[in-house]
Amino acid sequence: MLPLLFNLNGKPLTLTDHFQMMPLFETTLPPDITFKTGRQVSKSMSNAVQSILFGFINPFHNIVHVAPLYVHIERFSNDYVAPLLEHSPVRSCLIAKHTKKAMLQRALKNGSNLTFTFAFHDCTRVRGISANLLKYDEYQDLDPAFEPIINQTLAAGYMKSLAINPDKASQPGIMRFGTPLTFENGLEQSWSRSSQAEWIIPCRSCKYENVPSMSQDLDKMLGPKTRKVPVSPETPGLVCAKCGHYLYTREGRWVHLFPERQHHHGGYHIPLCIMTFHCENDAAWTKLQQYRFNQNIMSVAKFYNDICGESYDHGQKLVSVTDLKHAAVLPPRSAIKTHIQNIMAGRYIDHGLGVDWGGGGQDGTSKTAIAVAGLRADGIVEVFTGFRSNTPNDYNLEASRTLDICNQFQAKFIAVDFNGPANALRRSKLMDHGYPANKIAPIAYTVIKSIAKPVGAHKDMPAHLQVNKARSFLFLAQLIRSLRLRFFAYDFLSSEEPGLLNDFTALAEEKLEVKSVGDIHRVIHVATAGPDDFAHAVNYAVCALFSRHGSFPDAGSIMTIGDLSADQQKAIEPALRDKDFAWFTA
Ligand SMILES: [Zn+2]
Repeated sequence: MLPLLFNLNGKPLTLTDHFQMMPLFETTLPPDITFKTGRQVSKSMSNAVQSILFGFINPFHNIVHVAPLYVHIERFSNDYVAPLLEHSPVRSCLIAKHTKKAMLQRALKNGSNLTFTFAFHDCTRVRGISANLLKYDEYQDLDPAFEPIINQTLAAGYMKSLAINPDKASQPGIMRFGTPLTFENGLEQSWSRSSQAEWIIPCRSCKYENVPSMSQDLDKMLGPKTRKVPVSPETPGLVCAKCGHYLYTREGRWVHLFPERQHHHGGYHIPLCIMTFHCENDAAWTKLQQYRFNQNIMSVAKFYNDICGESYDHGQKLVSVTDLKHAAVLPPRSAIKTHIQNIMAGRYIDHGLGVDWGGGGQDGTSKTAIAVAGLRADGIVEVFTGFRSNTPNDYNLEASRTLDICNQFQAKFIAVDFNGPANALRRSKLMDHGYPANKIAPIAYTVIKSIAKPVGAHKDMPAHLQVNKARSFLFLAQLIRSLRLRFFAYDFLSSEEPGLLNDFTALAEEKLEVKSVGDIHRVIHVATAGPDDFAHAVNYAVCALFSRHGSFPDAGSIMTIGDLSADQQKAIEPALRDKDFAWFTA
């Protein structure tokens, strides 16, 4: 069917040289698919072809493509999808004559749509979109905290069939494509939940089944640095890890490490070397060996990531356990009487609550966390107690509990998470319980050039505090290390009772190297390391305290880190939507 539908560079398109991409074109697809690949393995082309094909076969379907940056999605839509549609031999069957050629939405004649969107700083843009198939590109650059929210765009029917009979779902739902970075990255997390298929190539000579992953045979399969016989389809670059005989990638097959998962979450690892246009091509193979042996051209990390399609190294923790223990100098958080005495004795010039509402979250286990913090006259902030609630979905109960805590400590304000429609509702619940609106400090993460910026009320929006997530957390980390932010006694007991402070260790600093854009720093939640709710609650309280008192302490070096140049901003999101909190009025 493919050669009938598509042309590539003037020739009919087939999978003859891209057979590893076959799992994308099966008639029955699992609801979840993850492709962990090197760069230049034709994944964008295969992805684009699959989208058009899927839309063509299923009328009135919306195939939604999400990438972190605007430039990613622009390139994908203009350089891959558009030419495939325009140069198709059956163009008139695919697209109507007068179809508007919109970069962010390409309509097929049968009522199906290919939609393109992006989410880097927030995911408000995807709201209102309804998807039948959701495809993530450059998944490694996406903030993992966004995925559960974006996944809600999937049509209700899909979620239902998944819930009732996950093994027999006939409709694909979510596809992820990405090149790995660190072991904490979202792509590796998703891969670890998948069936983890490797392209196994049997040796003609010794029958050994070669596994092209770095933990098994990949390095040996790449053969010697230089070779006498040039690389060709008959004498390919790949060799048997056991006996050194030539290996023919066309004789390989996908083998799942967890076969029982392949019908609900198929995972496929594609290193460059198994693609014919690398291992059967002399120039491409020579280049690959240069990357492998010359670290001036390519770092080891990049070789693992981009060539081998493997994660390498670990992300840098925002704060270490040692830093936290150092800063945990106050009495235990359970010493309520002491804390109240301190407040009465005038220890703080201001104090209040930071609340991160739970619910949702990557694995649905996110809980509400509350931090109670005070600002001393000398500028030091003390987080003297904290709470975690197990009923994040009972808004009324949560609001009344929050107010109980507020009354107990006679807190002067409540800084609350204001990052989505549910949280606007939670704010109104506090007011329903009689809490005055002017003592609530709603906090919204967004892109601003400072740590935090107060915004006055306008239209239906209440006054709120905009906070730059990456920069505020880097600021917090610096305060912790310099003991200007102090905590109750370290409360980690065991992995079963991790306490609250440990939440900070689930945050990692990540540096994204984005082509043509440069490095972008960000702070991500490593879900496998535990929850991060309490860290957000502390962040809200600290930002509210400093902003109520008109100044943030000098943050020195971090001021440059979170900065984006004009070009970076344009690449991420051409039109800034700071003020667009459309969800608020919904
Ligand atoms: Zn062999």
